[in-house]
Amino acid sequence: MRLDVLAIAAHRDDVEITCGGTIIKLVDKGKKAGILDLTQGEMGTKGTAEERARDAARAAEIMGVAWRENLELPDSAVEVTRENKLQIARVIRQVRPELVILPFWIQRHPDHLYAMQLGYDACFLAGLKKLELDGEPHRPRKIIYASSFRDVAHSFFVDITGQMERKLAAVRAYKSQFDSTPESKMIYKPGVDIFEYMTITAAFYGHKVNVKYAEAFAIKENILIDDPADMPVRSI
Ligand SMILES: [Zn+2]
Repeated sequence: MRLDVLAIAAHRDDVEITCGGTIIKLVDKGKKAGILDLTQGEMGTKGTAEERARDAARAAEIMGVAWRENLELPDSAVEVTRENKLQIARVIRQVRPELVILPFWIQRHPDHLYAMQLGYDACFLAGLKKLELDGEPHRPRKIIYASSFRDVAHSFFVDITGQMERKLAAVRAYKSQFDSTPESKMIYKPGVDIFEYMTITAAFYGHKVNVKYAEAFAIKENILIDDPADMPVRSI
């Protein structure tokens, strides 16, 4: 299986919440998308690993992703080790994505931060010709970082107005997490309804770029423009 885009995240539902709309949009454009979850989410307040696996499969179906695997690293104990980097590098060589989406580099949950570091290092290692690892060397062309909903400067936004409903449906597929019980309102941020939160943040990001709903991303590189008049934004 060769993918156009691979999103890597610590927990099942991280991808849906941070960049699910963009994944769906890429699938709508005919791209092949995949998700690598690093843990089974077994330390979550609600739901078992088995329930979350079923939820994740259903969410993948809603988003139209072609490939979803789980590395089964220990939840809440993701560590930046050589072994973990190589495990992810092996996956990168296997599915050969051009674009990789990682968590943003400022995070509250340490697993998210380490997933970012592991993902970056794995992308680098996967391209090393002399590395003793299964598969042909492959280095993704582009790494982008999905928003952590922090007040940081983002590099660009993706209009997900046409995908917002399916993004919410994909998160709603996590029945073991986000049901109608009061505890489910404590999972993402204490007292916060995740669906309301996602809608407000997507509308906030959308407002910045004159669309109804958007997702925010950061990149570490500067963008080189050939003809500034062709930039896809109006100044006045
Ligand atoms: Zn998470």
